[in-house]
Amino acid sequence: MFENLTDRLEGVFKKLRGHGVLTEEHIAEAMREVRMALLEADVNYQVAREFVDAVSAKALGREVSQKLSPGQQVIKIVHEELVDLLGGSAEQIRLDGPQPVTIMLAGLQGSGKTTTAGKLAAQLKSKGRKPYLVPADVYRPAAIEQLQVLGSRLDVPVHPSTTDSKPVDICRQALAEAQDKHYDTLIIDTAGRLHIDERLMGELQDIQRAVKLSEILFVADAMTGQDAVTVADTFNKNLEITGIVLTKMEGDARGGAALSIKRVTGKPIKFVGIGEALDALEVFHPDRTASRILG
Ligand code: GDP
Repeated sequence: MFENLTDRLEGVFKKLRGHGVLTEEHIAEAMREVRMALLEADVNYQVAREFVDAVSAKALGREVSQKLSPGQQVIKIVHEELVDLLGGSAEQIRLDGPQPVTIMLAGLQGSGKTTTAGKLAAQLKSKGRKPYLVPADVYRPAAIEQLQVLGSRLDVPVHPSTTDSKPVDICRQALAEAQDKHYDTLIIDTAGRLHIDERLMGELQDIQRAVKLSEILFVADAMTGQDAVTVADTFNKNLEITGIVLTKMEGDARGGAALSIKRVTGKPIKFVGIGEALDALEVFHPDRTASRILG
């Protein structure tokens, strides 16, 4: 994760630490290199520019610390700005308030929605909650089956959805069923398309109008970089998502999606998927991630 960016930044900082006194020119040169490193990591162009502007302004304006060398001070500022870029502090999903709560997962096909639904169910179950998996992808019988398989592996109930029902009706029925059986968390897995299309968006909006959703999580494949960011932005404009799950993070050496998606959409990354196994889902921690990027 982030290996390429870490390597590049290490080179920049090594040079900075080599100077006893940092001039404006040293900082400007380092920032040009940081910007290049971010762009190579597929960070959004505007985001990369604003990032180095913020670091430069702070580095030039900061009081001289007695404890840190000038190079270390710049690294500290980069760390602070990275934490901010990644969202500040960890954001939990909302599970309080009237029960059952409802979490809808949305995103393109193959992004990892169904797998994430299973992972979330496993995590919530281990915390003592009673999740209910709701397949609402009526176009692919295999998707319903995939969730049923996950449910039986996890011993979590799965709503008996059928391909001849409308997703919005499935969600209404599942909610009634959950109330009846005292399940406290509905996890709705929705249909994905290869591209954004209006019918899919309309279908998700119908669900949003019919069922009170606590969370609308946009699931994105981190490996797709800026495409993930653009699609997240479109979903957010149509649906007002509440957070993002970035999957396949363990294979993403660049990190462009992770580093841009919060700034562009204004919505936090709440979870990261770090493998295919059902326990490979972690709450996203901006501070730990920033430290990891800086090696
Ligand atoms: P959906 O079409 O959005 O429901 O996507 P799936 O849940 O079917 O996932 C598509 C593929 O991505 C499957 O092969 C999953 O095992 C895989 N996948 C999902 N999340 C992760 C992850 O965090 N890491 C890795 N390596 N693979 C993942």
